Amino acid sequence: MRKSKSTDPVLTEEEKSFEQSLRPSSIKEFIGQQKITDNLNVFITAARKRDEALDHSLLTGPPGLGKTTLAYIIAHEMGVKLKITSGPVLERPGDLAGLLTNLEEKSVLFIDEIHRLSPVVEEYLYSAMEDYKLDIMIDSGPNARTIQLSLPKYTLIGATTRAGMLTSPLRDRFGIKFRLDYYDAENIQKIILRSSEILDVTIDEDASQEIAKRSRGTPRIANRLLRRTRDFADYDNKNKIDIDVAKKALLALEVDDFGLDEMDKEIILAIIEKYNGGPVGLNTLSVAVNEDPGTIEEVYEPFLIQQGFIQRTPRGREATALAYKRFGKDKFNPDKAKSLFK
Ligand code: ADP
Repeated sequence: MRKSKSTDPVLTEEEKSFEQSLRPSSIKEFIGQQKITDNLNVFITAARKRDEALDHSLLTGPPGLGKTTLAYIIAHEMGVKLKITSGPVLERPGDLAGLLTNLEEKSVLFIDEIHRLSPVVEEYLYSAMEDYKLDIMIDSGPNARTIQLSLPKYTLIGATTRAGMLTSPLRDRFGIKFRLDYYDAENIQKIILRSSEILDVTIDEDASQEIAKRSRGTPRIANRLLRRTRDFADYDNKNKIDIDVAKKALLALEVDDFGLDEMDKEIILAIIEKYNGGPVGLNTLSVAVNEDPGTIEEVYEPFLIQQGFIQRTPRGREATALAYKRFGKDKFNPDKAKSLFK
């Protein structure tokens, strides 16, 4: 399996601690993704009744939708400790062995970006997940031998933005699998209102709705926009974020009316301008916008489809009427063009 680049944004320490302060810590506080939280509640309650560790769980979905948050919530609700690491950090099997052998019974090990594990480390993980055993090679050459370590019963939570890059032996070892989807504006608005309470800022209904609409269905973006909007309110000596402040901030920050980011726009415009609205195949599109096809498929496209800007057909991706309208474009019509030259 090749190592892929990260699709997660790089956050500064300050941004990380800001996010941490807004993280819901219980299932009840987690907004949206109802099916996931309902199921999780059942699985956690059952595991607790049996006094067992929760099954290994895989959380997939685009960045900023709450995968790390759910890992914290699972540990909190199970009443156990959480250890956090990520695929690229675990370079050698020894890194993994060090972590696993130090876990407490029933505790949670969270591996972010699990699709970026090296193949050797992944290999070790198989028996560590399935049999709670780790075969460690000691010495080399003629003295080489393996010893088997027994591990405590623990829960591995893997998170990835790129489910398509996981090998099937790894994917199959997760008993619980959840895919997080983009949030609708209503739930994003609830998240904004919850965050504003924690941050002790007053925001009115219209302003929270406006920010929600432009947050690309992503809690991380919503929280960031709330924070930046608060700066504009403070600057204007206003003690409340109202629609005027929100609009002014969003304009200054060049946030798109529909929450589209640069790559979203490039994808839509490429389909419209280079392929006359499509259909265009994923690989061709990927070359046109210089982005990995899997990332387009798993990170960008779900939002664009949910919002009705593109559709997937058996022959490829097509831009919708809404996409043409958003960019003020007219679809090229060959019959109409011919009639002009008659
Ligand atoms: P991911 O791990 O999927 O990239 P995170 O779990 O780090 O995303 O979430 C990013 C931010 O969004 C966090 O600050 C978290 O507080 C907030 N967040 C995510 N999901 C929710 C939710 N359902 N309700 C409230 N806040 C959320």
